[in-house]
Amino acid sequence: MKLEVVTIGDELLLGYTIDTNGAHLARELAGVGVEIVRRTTVGDGADEIAAAVREAIERTGAVITTGGLGPTSDDLTKPSIAAIFGRRMRMDEEILEKLKARWKVRGWAGGFPKSNEQQALIPEGARILTNNHGTAPGIWLEDERGRWVAMLPGVPREMRGMLADTLMPLIAERAGTGRETSVVRSRTLCTTGIGESNLADLLGDAARGPEGMPLAYLPGWEGVDLRLTARGLAAARAEEALERGTATLREKAGEWIYGEGATDLASVVLDECRARGLTIAVGESCTGGMLGARLTAIPGSSDVVLGGVIAYANSVKVAELAVRQETLDTHGAVSEETVREMAAGARARFGAAIGIAITGVAGPGGGTPEKPVGTVWLGVAADGRLEARRINTVGDRDEIRRRATQAALALALRVVRDETA
Ligand code: AMP
Ligand code: MG
Repeated sequence: MKLEVVTIGDELLLGYTIDTNGAHLARELAGVGVEIVRRTTVGDGADEIAAAVREAIERTGAVITTGGLGPTSDDLTKPSIAAIFGRRMRMDEEILEKLKARWKVRGWAGGFPKSNEQQALIPEGARILTNNHGTAPGIWLEDERGRWVAMLPGVPREMRGMLADTLMPLIAERAGTGRETSVVRSRTLCTTGIGESNLADLLGDAARGPEGMPLAYLPGWEGVDLRLTARGLAAARAEEALERGTATLREKAGEWIYGEGATDLASVVLDECRARGLTIAVGESCTGGMLGARLTAIPGSSDVVLGGVIAYANSVKVAELAVRQETLDTHGAVSEETVREMAAGARARFGAAIGIAITGVAGPGGGTPEKPVGTVWLGVAADGRLEARRINTVGDRDEIRRRATQAALALALRVVRDETA
């Protein structure tokens, strides 16, 4: 089954409200094999609403709208869609009574507002979708050819409630008549330290997705997530296809993959350390404690993380991490030599198995032609081993710091995995 979603509200077009309803509908419906093929956002104007919904019905015959069901004059969803179906609006006495009763029970001051009566105006022949989380009832309108529009409230909590309680069972019933329902299922692999196009090169034949399943590249500061999606298969077959597909991706790009779904790289590093009985200490300059924060945000990190130094000033790098003044004078604070000494210094200072260090130019000022903003050196010290790596990253100060922290964790993971348990 395919359907379209129309989200309604000036606030969505103006960017004051993010269309979370559209995203929620897509995720929930995919789970029962219903595919959203187009999403449209329109303002509160009656003509815009009618035009968007009319076109959507003509394409798919199945439409869900959210928003514009409230009691105020900008809530025009019901009458404009009723007009498309050639239905008149009539007052539903039962709903009106319920609204008034609700008002009385709550003891709201000023009596029942006249404008709220509008919520009890229902298109002729409509089916009511009860709202257990607010006042505006939802509406299901269907024509003689079985084409339908379901109108849900805009308030996310009410929309979600109505979808789960009332609309999902109706849709599932229609989608699943007779044959086994097909589903839409996804699996996400998290990579870091490699860009989208390099990943695609590495994946070769599988770059567009193994077995004809589409593969989405989702870049963020953590790295690039690879999301593989199976459509049009029954649940068990979809899971099998995803299992084979992700195995192919791991085979080709496994070196860059650190987890699946919402995995945090920091927790992977902690797990690998814990399994080997290794402890961590950090020495941070430009990230000012972000690495320590990432690690200690994970519950149970105390058996791995010993501590760290925010060595922001050069004097602190010297006094607390035993970086040599000569190294700073000769190579500068942002250099391979300095980061190596910082990592070794953090390890020694805390008596940890692993020392992780970061020093870089987070900007917006302080860049030079040789070391532009975004230049960051990462260092990891272990028993008899000292690894350093330079990254040239982009973005604003916050992004550079977050990317640097993630890259330091990635380097640490490589080193830790080579350590014997
Ligand atoms: P409405 O039902 O149009 O009166 O919308 C009520 C409130 O719900 C609005 O003020 C928005 O804050 C919120 N809202 C409306 N549409 C959406 C949407 N698509 N996604 C998230 N929030 C929404
Ligand atoms: Mg609105």
